[in-house]
Amino acid sequence: MAPEQHRGLHHLNWPEAKSAAACDSSTVVVPWGSLEQHGPHLPLGTDGLFAEQVLHQVLQALPPQLPIWFLPLQSLGFAPEHKGFGVSFTQPAEVMLAQVEAIAEPLARAGFQRLVLFNGHGGQISLLDVAARQVHGRHPNLGVHAWFLWDVDGVMDLVPDPERGQGLHAGLAETSLMLHMAPELVQLQHAVAEPPPPPPAGLSLEGRCPGAWRTNALSRSGTVGSPRGATASLGAALHEKLVQGWTTTFATLLGSSWPPRRSLESSDRV
Ligand SMILES: [Zn+2]
Repeated sequence: MAPEQHRGLHHLNWPEAKSAAACDSSTVVVPWGSLEQHGPHLPLGTDGLFAEQVLHQVLQALPPQLPIWFLPLQSLGFAPEHKGFGVSFTQPAEVMLAQVEAIAEPLARAGFQRLVLFNGHGGQISLLDVAARQVHGRHPNLGVHAWFLWDVDGVMDLVPDPERGQGLHAGLAETSLMLHMAPELVQLQHAVAEPPPPPPAGLSLEGRCPGAWRTNALSRSGTVGSPRGATASLGAALHEKLVQGWTTTFATLLGSSWPPRRSLESSDRV
């Protein structure tokens, strides 16, 4: 068993899991991926592999006494934008919302204090945020956080322009990270550069004033951006930044009582 495996909630028996829930600041993390096309050179399970592997490195780096456990990877995600490339999976948004509730409800009932949805897929950031708010509304004693893997200060500074802005999918960052983590899953000889068309001034695909997009309207290969110049050494640098950033964030969360959960007396009288 790898050193962080003792933190697997699914490796505990129920009395142990019950005691885990009773720890002060008890926190459960669920890595969440998506099984979607990632261009002709990266595997369908790219997002989940990244989320799971970074999380496991973070769990190894955290002090062993911290009350944090993980559940197995949820590999099926919400990715309708990638339809039309052979085999690319998605599930209805309502199913994802129900799935988050199905995970949260027993944790809340057992007394766990926090749930973190550790998400590797950019297309389901908003949906998991909706799920977090909905679940927290139903179970106010369970703090719920939906965090996106790549949302770490400084990580994208390692990616040069214009790819930093244009590399939305299977581009330089993801290809480099996979070359570092699992090079046997990268088929660099099939990699294709297809940067997205420039939007009119003031609009964007994913930044300010965004809009929904479908990959097959932007790209023939499924890549949105350019994997050209991807290296394992850039991947190692990205990996180090991600692990450092998330280790600090998880340590901060576990060392705090965040988020506020006590109801203020006046709130029901408004
Ligand atoms: Zn994705």
